Amino acid sequence: MDRVKGFIYYHILSFMNIQSNHHTNIVSQTPTIYRLLAILGHEIGHWRLWHTIEGFVITQAYTLCLFLAFSYVQTSTELFGAFGFTCGDQSESMPMFVGLLLFMQTYWTPVDKLLTFVLNVNSRRNEFAADRYSKNLGMSKDLAAGLVKISVENLGNMVPDPLYSAYHFSHPPVVERIAAMLDGSESKKDK
Ligand SMILES: [Zn+2]
Repeated sequence: MDRVKGFIYYHILSFMNIQSNHHTNIVSQTPTIYRLLAILGHEIGHWRLWHTIEGFVITQAYTLCLFLAFSYVQTSTELFGAFGFTCGDQSESMPMFVGLLLFMQTYWTPVDKLLTFVLNVNSRRNEFAADRYSKNLGMSKDLAAGLVKISVENLGNMVPDPLYSAYHFSHPPVVERIAAMLDGSESKKDK
């Protein structure tokens, strides 16, 4: 794994012209059309592996749970009162939009933190699976080159703190993705 990471770092650095004594690198060796095809292969992988439908169902379920939970406190005088809103017992005097904002910033926040983590774990798993799909089409090197180019152009952090990225990032760091593609043992793990 360390050798693979070294290989990746080297090519990233040479792409960014930090190391100037070499003429070629993984990106410039790969024509743009192949990089685009490899990334397209990754996106088709998401479709073929049902990630798109899965994302749609998860979003609907999330919204349903959010509004279902909100319906229990929608007319709570305690919720409004805690933030200085004086309402009578009449639900008409409790604006729903205000209640929803208060609910999302109080009761829902811890649930959302937990769900964010679970959804990001799932999303990262899907990214590795889609990368593997593109790899199985024989485009792992082209995809690696494409990912490096995108990451450099977007000034993405290629080596973020593992714990921070595990919680906050829906996509794995590019170094981990390329390492998984180039390292056979890691890609088998997700099969
Ligand atoms: Zn993806």
